Amino acid sequence: MRNAFGLMLMSLAAATLIATGGWFWNSHRSSAAPQTFASAQATPAPVHAKPLASRDPIETAGSIPEKEPAAPAPQPKQTCANPDALGVSRVVEIDTTGGPGFGFEHFKQIDFLGDKEVVLSFDDSPWPVNTPAVLKALADQCTKAMFFSIGKHATFHPEILRQVAAAGHTVGTHTWSHANLNSKKLNEQAVKDEIEKGNSAVKLALGTAPAPFFRFPELQHNPAAMAYLGTRNIAMFSCDLDSFDFRAKSPEQVINTVMTKLDKQGKGIILMHDFQKHTAEAMPELLRRLKAGGYKIVFMKPKAPMQTLPEYDEAMMKEMKLPVAGVRPVNTIVQTVSQ
Ligand SMILES: [Zn+2]
Repeated sequence: MRNAFGLMLMSLAAATLIATGGWFWNSHRSSAAPQTFASAQATPAPVHAKPLASRDPIETAGSIPEKEPAAPAPQPKQTCANPDALGVSRVVEIDTTGGPGFGFEHFKQIDFLGDKEVVLSFDDSPWPVNTPAVLKALADQCTKAMFFSIGKHATFHPEILRQVAAAGHTVGTHTWSHANLNSKKLNEQAVKDEIEKGNSAVKLALGTAPAPFFRFPELQHNPAAMAYLGTRNIAMFSCDLDSFDFRAKSPEQVINTVMTKLDKQGKGIILMHDFQKHTAEAMPELLRRLKAGGYKIVFMKPKAPMQTLPEYDEAMMKEMKLPVAGVRPVNTIVQTVSQ
């Protein structure tokens, strides 16, 4: 029943998007008609199953809840039930004025981590099963991380993204559809649309503004995109240490890659993906290894929330809403006639 109902909703969403010519299927994607959910799929397809496999993300329709969710309530000061927890050793507040860059793989101006200090960061959030598993592992160790959310994934699973924020983690953004912003296929307007649609979609999903923290898909940046983020006072994140977890064949491989690099470099911002199954499975042991290795977690949070652009907020609200009021009861559409 649930599957049938879900399929019906998705079909309606697809039909509506096609009928209205959804504005986000804009000119830079004119080479191909937008793909919507295959009818056999019970859940929305990810924007990219293998991050580096393709430069053309799959176009899929998403949904925003009928009502804008309430902003997460401020969390009371939590006590940690785990006496051996990794915890958080230091919280740093980032003034994002002018769009500072972090992560020595690309941005080498700001060196703020001491020896053995580590920042945990996860891209492509949110996703069922894997994101909640990462959240549980972090909660069990009473530690905090940054999550960079893809706009489309946020519209698919806003309730999971709200769990991330409610747990006190920092939620930044990662474009609308995981487009490579350094691609020659994207003009200046298309780059702006990718960034701002992502920002507004994440804000709508969360019910509150995200952090003005941004990570370029595939770590692909260029001077024009950086200059734009600078004018928007959005901090740019690369990493110091790439886990390459999307290539890992097992949780052990994720752990070994991270620990080997970390033991060599001594500190850094670690890039992982809460979207990835092996990463989710690796987290409990990886966090234990970090603790055992004497590493300390630094939690990065913004001094002020992101200022999204009203025109993108309005457009996303208008275009992403599903015509829920017009949905007929399932039993008027699907009836069992033989069993
Ligand atoms: Zn990504």
